[in-house]
Amino acid sequence: MLFNLSLADREAAGLTRRLAAIDKVAGRLLHANEQTYLNFAGNDYLGLSQAPELRLAAEQAAREYGVGAVASPLVVGHQAIHRALEAELADWLGVEAVLLFSSGFSANQAIIKALLTKDHQCWQDKLNHASLQEAGLLSPARMRRFAHNDMASLAARLTPQAGLIISEGVFSMDGDLGNWPELVALAEQSRNWLMIDDAHGLGVLGHQGRGTLSHFGLATSRVQIMMGTFGKALGVGGAFVGGSRALIDYLQNYGRGYVYSTHLPPPQAAAILAAVRLVRRADDKRAHLAGLVERFRQGVASLPCELLPSITAIQPLVIGEEGRTLALAARLQERGIWVGAIRPPTVPTGSARLRITLSAAHRPGDIDALIGALQDSL
Ligand SMILES: *Cc1c(COP(=O)(O)O)cnc(C)c1O
Repeated sequence: MLFNLSLADREAAGLTRRLAAIDKVAGRLLHANEQTYLNFAGNDYLGLSQAPELRLAAEQAAREYGVGAVASPLVVGHQAIHRALEAELADWLGVEAVLLFSSGFSANQAIIKALLTKDHQCWQDKLNHASLQEAGLLSPARMRRFAHNDMASLAARLTPQAGLIISEGVFSMDGDLGNWPELVALAEQSRNWLMIDDAHGLGVLGHQGRGTLSHFGLATSRVQIMMGTFGKALGVGGAFVGGSRALIDYLQNYGRGYVYSTHLPPPQAAAILAAVRLVRRADDKRAHLAGLVERFRQGVASLPCELLPSITAIQPLVIGEEGRTLALAARLQERGIWVGAIRPPTVPTGSARLRITLSAAHRPGDIDALIGALQDSL
């Protein structure tokens, strides 16, 4: 086995990943190394991971159902709490049916590998999440990547009625939005299927937090496959795919990551259900977050670094070189600020960055502290 050579390669390139010894993440704060930091590294965009409504729902479900689903969904795992969650999601998002998964990674694998055959093509944005790209590569279909958000690049590669176009609502490492009005038009013109992974748009964008399509005023029915996760703005974990009854029936039979996996623990399903109900009426949290984003962008506008154009909670500062990015993250830590240092292969070589994420859990003063620490450190 040659794995230790691969590890040595990463070590030599300064790209080895190690777990940080985090004691506890608690909304806007994070505890590690016997210290408390302001947390700008999570994806808990509305601060729901700490919400009393979600904790209570999980506690009650643990009492009523126990802590585990005890089986895969098609055996006996699928219970009343799962059905209630599916019904709420379908109503919220305006889809006929949904299927629940334990993770977004496994949902994307199951969807793509179950749907695509060797006669299909799979067109993906170059910056799509690893779970989408990997599934496309492992599927029997021909995978074709188009330049990020470049609709001419996509149009040049499209063939009629032969596959699936996949893009993201909000790009996870850049914070920009997919060009959904044009994606929908191109898919309809070429009569291909379209899939959105809205992991980072769900809860944050659109009417009632319905996500990126709603933000653009597009009905969910304009895409055949809507996928989203519960581990970001919904504050819990897990994922779903939504679409037509026929699509969901098919995936329920052929999606291996669904059929052969223990169903979501009932306390998790209950917490997600509480999160969806909260998110639907969380305009105040979304407005607070938008204000923080505005405050941050104004504060760093004059700093000597590249802030990517983003209206979302993901506000990346591109530094470029890996060593400098890590050093900068370390300097911020010394000032009580925790941000993600993102390096290749997660992002393209030469574009290492501080992935700064804001949350409705933050206070305006937290943003000012972050700006001050960036000023000192850059
Ligand atoms: C986080 C993420 C996933 C994976 O979801 P998990 O539930 O964390 O496995 C998939 N797609 C995108 C775009 C993501 O950001």
